[in-house]
Amino acid sequence: MPYKNNAVGLIKKVRKLFTTVNHTEITERFRLAEQALWASETYLNAILRYSPALISVKDLDGNVVLASDHFKLMANIDDAGFVGKNIFDVYPKDVAQSICDIDTATKTKQQTFEVELDLMHKDGSMHTYLMVKFPLRSKENRVFGVCTIGTDISERKLAENALREQQSRLNYMAFHDSLTGLPNRSLFYDRIYHGLARARRSNSKVALMLLDIDRFKIINDSLGHDAGDLMLKAIAMRLNEGVRDMDTVARLGGDEFVVVLEGVHDIEDVIFVANKLLVTLARPMEISGHEITSTVSIGISIFPNDGEVTDELLKHADIAMYKAKEAGKNNCQFYTKGMNATAVNYLLLENDLRRALELNQFTLHYQPQIDLKTGYLMGVEALVRWQHPDRGLVSPAHFIPLAEETGLIVPIGEWVLREACRQQKLWLDAGKKVGKIAVNLSPRQFRQKNFPGKVEAILRETQLAAEYLELEITESCAMEHAGETINQLNQLNQMGMYLAIDDFGTGYSSLAYLQRFPIQKLKIDRSFVNDIHDDMNDAAITKTIIGLAHSMQLRVVAEGVETQNQADWLRQCGCDQAQGFLYAKPMSPIQFESHFHGGRFCFDGTVIPLENYKMGT
Ligand code: C2E
Ligand code: MG
Ligand code: MG
Repeated sequence: MPYKNNAVGLIKKVRKLFTTVNHTEITERFRLAEQALWASETYLNAILRYSPALISVKDLDGNVVLASDHFKLMANIDDAGFVGKNIFDVYPKDVAQSICDIDTATKTKQQTFEVELDLMHKDGSMHTYLMVKFPLRSKENRVFGVCTIGTDISERKLAENALREQQSRLNYMAFHDSLTGLPNRSLFYDRIYHGLARARRSNSKVALMLLDIDRFKIINDSLGHDAGDLMLKAIAMRLNEGVRDMDTVARLGGDEFVVVLEGVHDIEDVIFVANKLLVTLARPMEISGHEITSTVSIGISIFPNDGEVTDELLKHADIAMYKAKEAGKNNCQFYTKGMNATAVNYLLLENDLRRALELNQFTLHYQPQIDLKTGYLMGVEALVRWQHPDRGLVSPAHFIPLAEETGLIVPIGEWVLREACRQQKLWLDAGKKVGKIAVNLSPRQFRQKNFPGKVEAILRETQLAAEYLELEITESCAMEHAGETINQLNQLNQMGMYLAIDDFGTGYSSLAYLQRFPIQKLKIDRSFVNDIHDDMNDAAITKTIIGLAHSMQLRVVAEGVETQNQADWLRQCGCDQAQGFLYAKPMSPIQFESHFHGGRFCFDGTVIPLENYKMGT
């Protein structure tokens, strides 16, 4: 190797020069110097031969002065064809980099500098090298060459890339809903934050639409969670297809989606999109072999009119969404300031309702049913009340629809049934005859497959005979799935209780079905009774219902009787029983019991001769 020859030659020359002077001392010094040089050459050779690093030194003209074996192997060049030659000729790929290296080494004061290089190994595999370069300086601090040491960092790179990929996957998962792939709540917040900032700058509006699937719980409960998941996916796809690419569709959780429309200049555009989504989503979809039609209720708030920040806009869209549900579902509502109070109430109510059962906040009130001919007490209707700690007594008209919507009606209804049976048994045991105790059933409660079994269990538990119980279902509930209704009613009827159709006249009855229902009573809705003296139609309908009931050997009860005139008119028309404020409002058990005197029930001091009436007539 030339540099080795040069060094040894130099030593020989110097040795010759000094042979005459102090021979022994100089010989010794040279021996040591020669030894040291030999050792460092040996180190260097070993490093160049065995190092896995790519080591090279080039002078400022680009001539390769020194190179490690691994470097030569990589460059596919042997000793003869390489050392001493110009790097620009032997390794043309490296030209640009070499010029740059020399420039950096000579023109800057950098001690070291680095570049990354992708190189192909003989086996065809690509490797990444980190090339650390440093200028070589003479004693006078003049740069005379550049040394490069390259190490294979492919494995580190692979690990780094894998980590980066994993991080971006985690990142994706943290910001997307795993079921639908839509942005989740976090990403929605981020997107709308930037959207609102853009809208502020451009003086435009942003619409926030909150969508909630109508009756999703029913679909989920009846067809199973897998079907529910498929439906959510299908809805996510339809939503994405229904908006522009720049708009955000996100799933906030459960069956709640949000659509953010940016760059809104005209409210008409928002109405257009909302209607388009309503139509798109209402198209039937095939889920697990069933054709399902799902609708959504949409609440819309607009920035900046309905709020400056996301939470406010979301809250107002939520309020509007509840209004849309109240308005009969499958529609959209824009937020208006007037909505606030009632809707907030509704939301709070839901939270409280969930806890009301465990906090024992429900009670039953009882309203008498009177025989119109004799004035006797024939039965009582149990009506649930919610004793709310702040709101006082909440009417069932307020919370029963909410309980029905949320499914809470099932446990609440079960509690009502158990409590009514327990009370009836107490009264019976105390010799207080109240006739049959009537309990209202909600559609969801009545449609439970094992409902007759549940009633049976409660009767057994409270030790009440079925003949003292009457169950009321509304006309619309009875007719909704009339076939199922017949089955369910037959089972209950065979157990020995009375069955009544409530609010009769408000739904659409099929007489064919009505005849097949094993029922004993029709209850005329109080909206007709209320107007029998002012509205000829209502009077005619009431008379027809009485006639119809009698033709089917059913008893008729008029609800909401408030005046003596109404009671007299109903009696003349042949109506059997009446229930209403004329006789008594629904009463707490204590109030109700205060009407008992010596085991007899009496109004205004009039004692009703209980022993005269036959049970259940
Ligand atoms: P409903 O079953 O038709 O009950 C009769 C309703 O009419 C009761 O209202 C009662 O207080 C009211 N009422 C009775 N007489 C008069 C009257 O002379 N004038 C007027 N204006 N109203 C009268 P309430 O207790 O508010 O119950 C409303 C509805 O809530 C009930 O109508 C029933 O559908 C439902 N409900 C009540 N308790 C339960 C329950 O335990 N379960 C279920 N599923 N629904 C219940
Ligand atoms: Mg009722
Ligand atoms: Mg009723």
